[in-house]
Amino acid sequence: MSKEQAETANLQALLSKIGSGLDQYLKFEHPDALHEGNSWQSSLDIPLPLKGIGIDRVTEELIKQVIPNGSAVPKPGFTSYITTGAVSVSALASTAANIASPQRYMGTAFNFLEELSLQWLAEMCGIGELEGVYSSGGSVANLIALGGARQSAFEKVGHDVAANGVDRQVRIYASEECHHTIQRSGGVLGIGRRAIKSIACDDMGRMQVEALQEAIAHDLKEEIMPMAIVANAGSTNTGAIDPLLAIGEIAREHGIWYHIDGAYGLPGILDERISHLYQGLELADSVIVDPHKWLGAAVGIAATFVRDRDILQRAFTQEPADYLEGSVEQADNSDAGVKHSLDDFGIPYFDYGVELSSPCRGIVVWAMIREIGVEGMRERVKRHNDIARYIAEFSEQHPNLELLLEPTLSICCFRYVASAIDDLDQLNQSLHRRLVRENEYMPSTTRINGKLALRPCYIGARHEQQQAEALLEAVLRIGTELVVEQS
Ligand SMILES: *Cc1c(COP(=O)(O)O)cnc(C)c1O
Repeated sequence: MSKEQAETANLQALLSKIGSGLDQYLKFEHPDALHEGNSWQSSLDIPLPLKGIGIDRVTEELIKQVIPNGSAVPKPGFTSYITTGAVSVSALASTAANIASPQRYMGTAFNFLEELSLQWLAEMCGIGELEGVYSSGGSVANLIALGGARQSAFEKVGHDVAANGVDRQVRIYASEECHHTIQRSGGVLGIGRRAIKSIACDDMGRMQVEALQEAIAHDLKEEIMPMAIVANAGSTNTGAIDPLLAIGEIAREHGIWYHIDGAYGLPGILDERISHLYQGLELADSVIVDPHKWLGAAVGIAATFVRDRDILQRAFTQEPADYLEGSVEQADNSDAGVKHSLDDFGIPYFDYGVELSSPCRGIVVWAMIREIGVEGMRERVKRHNDIARYIAEFSEQHPNLELLLEPTLSICCFRYVASAIDDLDQLNQSLHRRLVRENEYMPSTTRINGKLALRPCYIGARHEQQQAEALLEAVLRIGTELVVEQS
């Protein structure tokens, strides 16, 4: 056996070592990576090695120096932003794909599950009639959807914009709470970030429909071509859901592409108590969801859904290339020519977006749904929504807490208050810094109608109500300490 063969044959033992290192990591007994006294940086910061140390010693370094100094994101008390650690089955499935099916083309079982998982995901999220494509995250998923929107708007005026470029001014309407990757998509798609018209929200963070109507009427008068309306199904800031039905009807009335950004919040539809907020989803021309947010996939998995993927193919085609020519037996609607996994490129996902080489991502979504089913996902989503409501009710009742926004999904915005303190923003800012330094309960902050809020977001499979109870205790304890220090 050559050296390489010996190494790959040893995968079982090596993965098992990494597995014990990760099990240890998931006990979260180590200090934060940047805790004083940690020495990993000096041991890792070595010059470019001319000679290698071999796979066993690399594995050892991973276990000793790297894994224990990983991220605080997977900790159960981490509730910042909208991100969490992956569930174990996600890591298992993507490891399997890394080795056994490195590309998402050709006829493999992994690529079969790429499509099946997209259908499952769509059906689970109430958009079963749409067709999907995976990409690396919500940012790219929004870009792909808006690439479809751009193609559609320009085709209506007889212009192939993907081939020939933008030839007139267009507009995207999105609420002031939209994710800023919508603006970036405008830049990448050549229509400009300034082409995104920011539509005012009500004090619950939802797009104001009248303001949207006025903006469209104004642009039509100026002969600016509407390209898309973007609505949030769960805003990044607070989890607010725009009035999807009313916005969808406006889109229909004007024949404007309707995009719904459900990167975070689309799985919220699984909670029957709030599923009515998703009425209007059926009017969408494109929808995105991030399995790497609420569903618990490792970072690097988002999905874009559209009515017909042909529009994406026209928007993102690479056009024919010599290095592909004749490399695949075209089966001409019969399976006669398909006898080997290399005979069939499969569904051309590589022409539905911006990536050619790409890992199989559906395998992870398949594994997660297969593991706990739709019922398991529903239970998790409801548990997280309940935790946000628990914090809301507790804050309303406690004299030293103030609820700043009624939660829609699994984010709750509240703050510490004390009558002796004038500058509550500064107080909550200091409180937040102390919380984070304690390294146990780590929400992020935001502003709600001008006020600085603590903003825990519960999306992790490891999130339970007891972490919310402990967070509230910590907030009250630190708040009291700060008030004593400051008065
Ligand atoms: C997180 C988020 C995005 C961006 O997604 P990434 O996966 O971080 O690239 C886009 N839109 C919304 C509403 C989000 O919450």
